[in-house]
Amino acid sequence: MSTFQAPKGTYDLIPPDSAKFLAVREAIAAPLRNSGYGYIETPGFENVELFARGVGESTDIVTKEMYAFETKGGDQLALRPEGTASVLRAALEANLHKAGNLPVKLWYSGSYYRYERPQKGRYRHFSQVGAEAIGAEDPALDAELIILADQAYRSLGLREFRILLNSLGDKECRPVYRAALQDFLHGLDLDEETLRRADINPLRVLDDKRPDVQKQLTEAPLLRDYLCDACKAYHEEVRELITAAGVAFEDDPRLVRGLDYYTRTTFEFVHDGLGSQSAVGGGGRYDGLSEMIGGPALPSVGWALGVDRTVLALEAEGVELELPSTTSVFAVPLGDEARRLLFAKVTELRKVGIAADFSYGHKGLKGAMKNANRSGARYTVVAGERDLADGVVQLKDMESGDQTAVGVNEIVAELESRLG
Ligand code: ATP
Ligand code: MG
Repeated sequence: MSTFQAPKGTYDLIPPDSAKFLAVREAIAAPLRNSGYGYIETPGFENVELFARGVGESTDIVTKEMYAFETKGGDQLALRPEGTASVLRAALEANLHKAGNLPVKLWYSGSYYRYERPQKGRYRHFSQVGAEAIGAEDPALDAELIILADQAYRSLGLREFRILLNSLGDKECRPVYRAALQDFLHGLDLDEETLRRADINPLRVLDDKRPDVQKQLTEAPLLRDYLCDACKAYHEEVRELITAAGVAFEDDPRLVRGLDYYTRTTFEFVHDGLGSQSAVGGGGRYDGLSEMIGGPALPSVGWALGVDRTVLALEAEGVELELPSTTSVFAVPLGDEARRLLFAKVTELRKVGIAADFSYGHKGLKGAMKNANRSGARYTVVAGERDLADGVVQLKDMESGDQTAVGVNEIVAELESRLG
């Protein structure tokens, strides 16, 4: 071990497990790429004010979890705790919304940072793949995103996840509900901080995980009973479209999310094999966010799926991903001349797209064959002085154990045909 260790709440992705993370990222991205979403990458840090305004001053993310810092130049920055505010900021900055091409559909993948109490499934550095559809109010768009996330999880082989769905209303009906909820909350036995939260953002209190708080909330008014006609119709249409697509969901009238900017459609993906960190992803509509960060009115919807927790969910269900083998051919040279020849052959194999590796470090046959075995290669090519004198190399099938001599000039073509 070196003097240093990964910082608290973080972990390294190391082969072979790291291949699972790549596969999960890829599986989540594939349906998006296939549905008109373009890839966007934004910086790992932003002006702290973007998150304060965009995520919400009263959220845990902003008040407790943000890595905020001042640069040597005096800028107030923060490591990004989530993706939506950054993506919208970038889209506005590039005037994507003015190209007459709404909605702007974007997907992203990257690292996010939250100063949280580390536990299984909850880290200070984690990874998300997300999607945002900016600038259209259309229930089909909300439905599309939910369907694509479902497709992503299913393509990975996940079965034990559930989709929770709710509507948080809009600027017509939410204020009425908000007032009713506030009235209700002020009649409860809550601590100072929670009462303060009830004043600033009462919906967030519904999301309080503490049992003594939850116990008092059973009789809380539900937004469902306050939705205006437009929100009701919108929500009904989302439900119908998802149902028609054969995607199962559960209505959860108590579902609120940790971010302030959600309106109308709100959803969460939970996996029952994960214990307390059961949310593998979530999202919803955020019609007011653009204006909150100084942009025009741009009704939008999006989600973010956690890669770390998706990997844990796969493990919980015992799903083994079919990962492509990393090495198909392993070359074992015995002697300097064979070394030069096989090194050239490995380069040739790689050029034609065959994953090939080489025994480095001047190993003897026994040690080199150990490496060949460990590499998982289907074929090993061995060559010693005698083989070279005969103009051949030995091609060994690692599954059957069969070994055949193949002409030096034929070996690449032979491997191409055998590996299909
Ligand atoms: P939670 O309620 O578990 O704190 P959240 O509402 O803060 O989740 P979001 O902001 O919706 O989470 O992020 C979307 C997804 O990103 C989550 O469903 C989860 O899979 C993942 N995620 C969020 N925070 C963490 C974290 N600290 N460590 C690992 N994954 C995380
Ligand atoms: Mg959280």
